[in-house]
Amino acid sequence: MSMCAVFGLVYIDTPIAYAVQLFIVIEMSPTLQNVVRAVTIPSAQLLMSALLGLIIIYVFSLVGFYTFHSDMMNTGQNINECNTMLNCVRSYIRNGMLYGGGIGDFMSGELGHDAPLDQDDKYVYRLIFDMAFFIIVIVLLMNIVFGIIIDTFGSLRESENERHELMQSRCFICGLSKDLFEDMRQSGGRGFSSHWKEEHNYWNYIFFIIYLEKKDTSEYNGAESYIADCVKNEDIGWIPDGIALAIPRVDEEKMREERMEAMFRQLEFNSLNSSEDINSELAKMNKGITKQIEGLRRKVTKLKSDQKRLMRTVEDLPSGNKKGKNGANE
Ligand SMILES: [Zn+2]
Repeated sequence: MSMCAVFGLVYIDTPIAYAVQLFIVIEMSPTLQNVVRAVTIPSAQLLMSALLGLIIIYVFSLVGFYTFHSDMMNTGQNINECNTMLNCVRSYIRNGMLYGGGIGDFMSGELGHDAPLDQDDKYVYRLIFDMAFFIIVIVLLMNIVFGIIIDTFGSLRESENERHELMQSRCFICGLSKDLFEDMRQSGGRGFSSHWKEEHNYWNYIFFIIYLEKKDTSEYNGAESYIADCVKNEDIGWIPDGIALAIPRVDEEKMREERMEAMFRQLEFNSLNSSEDINSELAKMNKGITKQIEGLRRKVTKLKSDQKRLMRTVEDLPSGNKKGKNGANE
């Protein structure tokens, strides 16, 4: 915009200068700024696409220069549009882009050199050449460029809408949601609109910063010098974040206390449960051990009776065998 102003000052006598300054509407309208941004943000992509387009058209003009030289004869101006390579490229860029059907449309419609029906070969070559130019340059490249611009515009509009939605549903200063203030209205609060107009009006914050800038630093009170320091260091710690006078702190405290109480109750319950669990586990283990001891006792009793039976069997054995055994032992 400042460029327009400079233009207006330098070329003050030119009527164009006055017209150019009408571009101030861009500065006045956020929607128009988005339109301009839709072209400036993807400028690198657009420039590279344009470069690719130029290269492709140059290749087509080169083919046309050698193959369809006579088809570029402009009989109205009595000059061949492709008399030099440079003129040929120039003509391909201008006429190839301006005529809806590409360079083939220009050759057939404007210059009157349609694909010759009586020469099969040349007809096919022209058909391929004209269609290739139309599809690659007019259909693909142009739509890629449009697509890039429309895509950027769409995403810009989306983020703008999101920002708008956020501005509508949350306080700019404290970030608390509109619903919270509307809930408070039922218990005597003044609602969201009076909150952001009277309590957290961002203009008041700006006015206060300007007031601090204008005030002599030696006359600051404690709060003012703290905030002036914060502003100087670009620290936003002095701006209320998540707190507001309209939302009573007492309730918050109460809620916190209640939450803590509930937590303690839960903890107590959990510990009780766990002690009960331990007791039942111990009882189970006890039962298991008792069973095992009983089993062992039974086994010992059985072993004892087996031993007695064996002793009796040994005593009942014939005396010779007994002696032999004793002799072997000796
Ligand atoms: Zn607020």
